[in-house]
Amino acid sequence: MKSLFSFFAPGGILVLLAVVLTRKGLLSVRLPIVSTAFPLLVLVAGLLLGWRFNRSRSVFALLMIGTADRLLAHFENHALSSTDAGKLAFYAAATLLPINFAILSLLKERGITSPSGLRRICFILAQPAALFMLWHQFHRPSVGYLEHSLIQATLFQYASAQNLPRIAVVAAILGFCTLAFRYYRVRGPMESGFLWALTAVYCGLLLKGPGALSTFYFATAGLILIVSVVEASYAMAFNDELTGLRARRSLDEFMLRTSGKYTVAMLDIDFFKKFNDRYGHDVGDEVLRMVASKISEVSGGGKPFRYGGEEFTVVFPGKSRQDTLPHLEQLRSAIHSAGFVIRARSRPRKKPDNPKPSRAARKKVALTISIGVAERDTEHSSPREVIKAADRALYRAKKGGRNRVST
Ligand code: GH3
Ligand code: MG
Ligand code: MG
Repeated sequence: MKSLFSFFAPGGILVLLAVVLTRKGLLSVRLPIVSTAFPLLVLVAGLLLGWRFNRSRSVFALLMIGTADRLLAHFENHALSSTDAGKLAFYAAATLLPINFAILSLLKERGITSPSGLRRICFILAQPAALFMLWHQFHRPSVGYLEHSLIQATLFQYASAQNLPRIAVVAAILGFCTLAFRYYRVRGPMESGFLWALTAVYCGLLLKGPGALSTFYFATAGLILIVSVVEASYAMAFNDELTGLRARRSLDEFMLRTSGKYTVAMLDIDFFKKFNDRYGHDVGDEVLRMVASKISEVSGGGKPFRYGGEEFTVVFPGKSRQDTLPHLEQLRSAIHSAGFVIRARSRPRKKPDNPKPSRAARKKVALTISIGVAERDTEHSSPREVIKAADRALYRAKKGGRNRVST
């Protein structure tokens, strides 16, 4: 339920809102504020935000949407959209936007003015230039061949009713599938943003209406990208990338919202420095991930956070210290009995015919955590005081010999 909501919010909701507003006549796309101010504001805000947050992919996507919109508007405004040139512009937008969105979703963030960013800008600019040259080179060829039907399928029949050529249908299927796959794999705000932005773009291309309708949908696509950039930056600040747990800032916010009875547990990995010293920082990171995944499975309604370094916090809203002890004890013993398996760095390239279990290849090392617990009471009433009290209890657990829960 939660993941379905995070898929739809906010991109899907914005697309739905745009459809309802325009289809029900609640919003006239002819109003200057809708047809001019809204798209312009989205473009400027999107470019500024993408530049300042160094999100080149959303900057490039916005530029593409803006270019396609102006191209289509040009033919629409001069009543040329049914000419061969107008059709070609529409076909190109419907074909190239999904392909480019799919490519952008697969690319890594490499900046805007870096060499790789400039190469990407050249690739994007080359497309309208190539279209323009093709148009003039071939003495305005008929675009009829693009409309040629090879396969009779319901989807294609629907598409041709919408004046969409098959090549655009294939591009759209490829684009949407790639974006859906990317979202399935990564589940980040930028991934869902690209998927919903392309949906908004396609609504603009397919839904019939006054000229400014497609501009309104294209601007909605830009708005979705802006929200995704903000969401991605929020996620970076509030979630811990290494472990996937919520980070310290989230904890502070969560504690401000939590009132009444609650218990805080501070958890710290024992002798963690030795993992880094003996096996390297990468193995240290792996240990952190493994411990975090165990902590995220804590029972008793505990909310886990990465406090910082190799320290974690679990907050149990509505629970007394006594209530939480069995759950924390279970967590401590689960990590203790799992230990940590170090895999040998130099693994044979070819799988041996007779694999023998070698002791060097997999080595289990002891891994334990210490836990300090404190409950909110009259003595410790503010979140900061409760955390401090849990920290003192953690210190006692360390002093007492580690691998234990102290109150
Ligand atoms: P104790 O049992 O008393 O807790 O000893 P300790 O070695 O676990 O504690 P100490 O505070 O001395 O060392 C914590 C180490 O955690 C030091 C630091 O290099 C390491 N560390 C902090 N954050 C990270 C990280 O993100 N990745 C890795 N690999 N190491 C980290
Ligand atoms: Mg520590
Ligand atoms: Mg430690």
